[in-house]
Amino acid sequence: VQAVFRSNLSHLLELMGSGKESLIFMKKRTKRLTAQWATAAQRLAQKLGDIRRDQKQILVHIGFLTEESGDVFSPRVLKGGPLGEMVQWADILAALYILGHSLRVTVSLKELQSNLGVPPGRGSCPLTMPLPFDLIYTDYHGLQQMKQHMGLSFKKYRCRIRVIDTFGTEPAYNHEEYATLHGYRTNWGYWNLNPKQFMTMFPHTPDNSFMGFVSEELNETEKQLIKGGKASNMAVVYGKEASIWKGKEKFLGILSKYMEIHGTVYYESQRPPEVPAFVKNHGLLPQPEFQQLLRKAKLFIGFGFPYEGPAPLEAIANGCVFLQSRFSPPRSSLNHEFFRGKPTSREVFSQHPYAENFIGKPHVWTVDYNNSEEFEAAIKAIMETQVEPYLPYEYTCGGMLERIHAYIQHQDFCAAPSPAPAGAGASGSPFVLAPNATHLEWARNASAVPGAWPPPHSLRAWLAAAGRACTDACLDRGLVCEPSFFPILNSQEAFVQLQVPCDSTEWEMHHLYPALAQPGQECYLQKEPLLFSCAGSSSKYQRLCPCRDFLKGQVALCQGCL
Ligand code: UDP
Repeated sequence: VQAVFRSNLSHLLELMGSGKESLIFMKKRTKRLTAQWATAAQRLAQKLGDIRRDQKQILVHIGFLTEESGDVFSPRVLKGGPLGEMVQWADILAALYILGHSLRVTVSLKELQSNLGVPPGRGSCPLTMPLPFDLIYTDYHGLQQMKQHMGLSFKKYRCRIRVIDTFGTEPAYNHEEYATLHGYRTNWGYWNLNPKQFMTMFPHTPDNSFMGFVSEELNETEKQLIKGGKASNMAVVYGKEASIWKGKEKFLGILSKYMEIHGTVYYESQRPPEVPAFVKNHGLLPQPEFQQLLRKAKLFIGFGFPYEGPAPLEAIANGCVFLQSRFSPPRSSLNHEFFRGKPTSREVFSQHPYAENFIGKPHVWTVDYNNSEEFEAAIKAIMETQVEPYLPYEYTCGGMLERIHAYIQHQDFCAAPSPAPAGAGASGSPFVLAPNATHLEWARNASAVPGAWPPPHSLRAWLAAAGRACTDACLDRGLVCEPSFFPILNSQEAFVQLQVPCDSTEWEMHHLYPALAQPGQECYLQKEPLLFSCAGSSSKYQRLCPCRDFLKGQVALCQGCL
């Protein structure tokens, strides 16, 4: 059956079920965004022309909302608890539905079991049985539940699973044997999935797939209206929980000299003691009212927590400047409680690294809050700065739809790995040294790799400086690391072509390989495909890094990747 774009979301709202506060929040959001989704669908349909898209049978099992995993979120929806995850799940459901796929949504273990065909009263089915879904979207909680209740079929079908994983899972933490041997301990288990099966909220390491969410887009009229209606001295503080205000008196004092400060902190009957009297606290607002508040404000200010949520993107999309603190030293799972136990070594240099690195000035100012002068100077400068509402394409409905479409169309983790591409030219190598001799390129006459995605002709490979991760080495060159190119690059050939004088070449299991080790000029190749990793660095190694180009505003896709 072909998938047909949909524009009416009322059936999806029924599929989402009811009862829980979290579902009510999600459904309101979906309803509000219907028109934007429909427009985006129309545009994508035009762009794709008449390519064939198969309708997939998809199960969406939202594990963190199940009672069995404690469902700690639903009761907090009205109390300022995290809403980012719900924003993202609502948008994933909408995108899958709009793309025309057949959906089942489950938020309890019982529903999960009945959809998987596990007989009632049985803990799990010991026999492998046919799975009625092509794809399953879930989270770490759901993954655990499936493992417990699918018996042997879990192993057989896990290649169909996609794990929504806010902060990401790096390959070194995903590979059970390697993680255990080398101390990449986590609270989340080792699943030996293809790292691309983990889908993140922001484009962290390209080892995972970037899923994202959407922020509401403004039309020209709305943009003009906003520009006219801005109060240049109005600031909104980022964060719904009172605890983020603790110890922030100094900054609030400075800020209040220049601006009227607003907050959206949840409270029961009285003003939370952490929020000073001169702050106008609106309490937790319904999402549309929060957007209205942002439309009037000039500044959205972060005090260091929460990390990497949707709200700063919404603020910037509504014409605010986002001011946030730089973290020095950077925070990570090694030195910071919040990130401890998370399966990533990523260093977080500010409250919202995406805003800092992908958006930046004039919309985003990242300053050292320990330096009061720098903080005060930033506020003064921001008050003088004119900014336009801005939303990166990848966070629009169109961008998200295009990205999910591409994943569904091209990502296949059940297929046997494609054989190394056949050689070209006299050297028998599928790549050649670029004319300026700095990096490798795909040889013009190398044979195509059928079904490979992204297509290898966008490969550009460098030997990175010692201590540099491939994520950074590629970004330095305006490109992005592409882990699916590692297998074609993981060969002695590549070192030869790059004219690296290897004393010896060995195959070993290591998440930084392929690499050249210093001193000694030893070249190492990767023995375990699951350990290919864009993330990670060591001063001992110069890593061999596969990079590719990307579409402007859509880092997940290369040019010609759709
Ligand atoms: N939000 C809201 N009411 C408010 C403040 C925020 O509905 O008073 C919404 C906001 O629109 C955003 C969501 O809460 O989409 C998540 O915001 P945040 O960035 O704080 O991330 P979280 O920590 O909740 O995941």
